[in-house]
Amino acid sequence: MNYNISRQAAALSPSLTLAIDAKAKAMKAAGEDVVGFGAGEPDFDTPAHIKEACARALADGFTKYTPAAGLPELRAAIADKHQRENGLAFKPSQIIVSCGGKHSCFNVIFATCQEGDEVIIPAPYWLSYPEMVKMAGARPVIVPTTDRTEFKLTADALRAAITPRTRLFILNSPSNPTGSVYTPDEIKALGDVCLEHRVLIMSDEIYEHLLYDGAVARSVAGCSPAHAAQTIIVHGFAKAWSMTGWRLGWCAAPEPIARAIDAVQSHSTSNPTSFAQKGAVAALTGPQDHLQTWLAEFDRRRTRAWNALNRIPGLSCVKAKGAFYLFPNIAGTGLKSTDFCARLLEAEKVAAVPGIAFGADDYIRLSYATSMANIEKGLERIERFCRSLAR
Ligand SMILES: *Cc1c(COP(=O)(O)O)cnc(C)c1O
Repeated sequence: MNYNISRQAAALSPSLTLAIDAKAKAMKAAGEDVVGFGAGEPDFDTPAHIKEACARALADGFTKYTPAAGLPELRAAIADKHQRENGLAFKPSQIIVSCGGKHSCFNVIFATCQEGDEVIIPAPYWLSYPEMVKMAGARPVIVPTTDRTEFKLTADALRAAITPRTRLFILNSPSNPTGSVYTPDEIKALGDVCLEHRVLIMSDEIYEHLLYDGAVARSVAGCSPAHAAQTIIVHGFAKAWSMTGWRLGWCAAPEPIARAIDAVQSHSTSNPTSFAQKGAVAALTGPQDHLQTWLAEFDRRRTRAWNALNRIPGLSCVKAKGAFYLFPNIAGTGLKSTDFCARLLEAEKVAAVPGIAFGADDYIRLSYATSMANIEKGLERIERFCRSLAR
């Protein structure tokens, strides 16, 4: 039987980060002493007041469809957040609540890109972007960066990649997988290039709140009203409120794009889960003090891991100022990333994600969203592994 898988689906590779995480979890479940650095989610629990708001909504029978674009009170709370924290004036009608930041990325790309369009994606990139672009029938144009520029694309490199077919530029700061944070000046320079060439920007700001060493996350939409008119912000509840399993995100877009995304969503997923949205209202309108505690702990782990990595022969690592990832360079070991990670898991039972998944084969991604004890144990093992290679 020939099932004739569609061209769009056949072109996709399944998510490697989820695959590694699943493998490490399976080894752990089988009783093996695995140290996992693969996690793409905070290891903290969702704050109690958020869970309570959701539980209350469920108990009260808030279990029916909501508008496809989300509850009016949640869209208003998100618009307030952008006004309060980013100085951006969105109407609630410009906010589309979705089933996760990932879902919003897909909706944005699907609503703005088509066959013949090019989408510029700096590498290392979040691995879903190129696959989503392909699903929309458009072509990902990958522009590599290295640790020499802290994995940041320069305005000149962006300009050089633009053609008459360029439709969208994908910006993700703070970055997954590198943790890099563009400075406000760097953000503006990239935004200016996009303005000059009438290229839309999808700005994935899901790690906005996870910053260290005094780094500042500026939204490109905040550079000027003209920048805002060409930018779609993607955001969500997964990272700063530790709500990955809730499946809730949003985008904030110019009105015509928001309307198109609303239409796409109304014919695909419809609304995100009704009672989960009540939890999201509590997340935005309730206390935010959990964040300082989490950031202090993430920062301790980041510094500990970074110090250890730079003492390991063959490795070098930029001290990234955002998210919860470090992205060490492994070129000095003589191994490429898939080989490195497979042998590390085999020899030392340490799970890391090969950089090739993010378009950067000389690096691996380590998540420090895991306990300090795990970080210490895991880095000792990585050191032993690298010393064994050097012999
Ligand atoms: C985690 C993440 C998202 C969104 O995740 P959801 O769980 O779908 O909300 C979006 N972009 C990046 C870069 C991420 O790391």
